Amino acid sequence: MIVINKPKLFIEAEFVIISSEINIFEEKEILWYKFPVEFQNYLVTENLDAFLVGLLFLGLKNGYDIRLESQVSEKLYYNLTHYLIPALCLANPALTRIEILPKELNGQNLNTGNIAGTGLSCGIDSFATYYDHIKENGRFSIGYFTFFNVGSHGDMGGERARKVYKERLHAVREFAMGENKKVITVDSNLSEILQVNFQKSHSLRSISCVLHLQKLFRNYYYASAYRFDHFKLNLIDTSDSDIFNLNMLSTESTSFYSSVAQLSRVERSQLVSQNPSTYPFLDVCTNPWIDKPYLNCSYCYKCLRTQLTLEIGDNLKFYNQVFDLKKYQEIKYKYIGELLGKNGKSPLDQELIAYLKERNYHLPTKVYIYGLLYRYNFYKLKLKRYFKEIIENN
Ligand SMILES: [Zn+2]
Repeated sequence: MIVINKPKLFIEAEFVIISSEINIFEEKEILWYKFPVEFQNYLVTENLDAFLVGLLFLGLKNGYDIRLESQVSEKLYYNLTHYLIPALCLANPALTRIEILPKELNGQNLNTGNIAGTGLSCGIDSFATYYDHIKENGRFSIGYFTFFNVGSHGDMGGERARKVYKERLHAVREFAMGENKKVITVDSNLSEILQVNFQKSHSLRSISCVLHLQKLFRNYYYASAYRFDHFKLNLIDTSDSDIFNLNMLSTESTSFYSSVAQLSRVERSQLVSQNPSTYPFLDVCTNPWIDKPYLNCSYCYKCLRTQLTLEIGDNLKFYNQVFDLKKYQEIKYKYIGELLGKNGKSPLDQELIAYLKERNYHLPTKVYIYGLLYRYNFYKLKLKRYFKEIIENN
């Protein structure tokens, strides 16, 4: 059993911290989230929604029921118990259908801010979300960007992840300033308490931060990884079903959207590259090390995929400040060869190959040789493992 107690607020210099004492059987932990102090009046102390969603994956993974010593949104409780928990368990048979035991349900709309928000990572999906909503008004217009430290800078948290978070925040702040918007930062020890893989729990972690700000955000856009026709319940990565998951995390006060799910990655890249403000800030890199000569390492799979997509659309030249284009030119044919040669292509791989063909992108013979070599090495490794298994079992 996990017990979540009533939240407490306290001020620490220019920050306000909302925390709750958590009891996981005999163990006592304090789960905290830290916000800029100016947002103090928007923090929800009436409900335990944010803490519940933050710890939900821990309960599901270990089969621990969750008891709430305060109120929870009536709508969230209904969504979780009827739909989200059964769906997550269906996607991942290792999870257990747990009970949520609230003290009281709260059907009140707490929102007063009547504005929208979105996370800003300076990647393709987050920039595409911003530009896709740039003409919205009122409660659908993006008033604030958010930037969280709940696992995207290092699954298990700790000081190393916090260092990466602070480093990445510079570019995020600078871009936001150019757009005349504030960034709401949220630091938390949620990752340290969860100690689980980020990909399996990232939507829940991020949305838990937003649920603290239900009084501010009437609508919140969480950038989708895929287009909505790629929907599936997935064991490894919950992004594939975000269009459903996010809707099920909505409350009386805040609605969540899996944004830009109507656009393919190619269309998103085109939308982003039409906006020169993104040229010095685009950051898609998965390589977490700091002090890179460019913002992006330029050789990880995300860097290569983005550079190739931009190059086919004739937009890569605009991003020469953030990518090492010389390095990219040296390795791009090997990357394309591997892309063509690999088994089990993802929807994003398939989309990129279709884009190459559609634009008649010139492929020299060496691309096909790289593709064959990739397949040769793949099967060689497979055979080696197979023979090793036979030898060991005889
Ligand atoms: Zn990279």
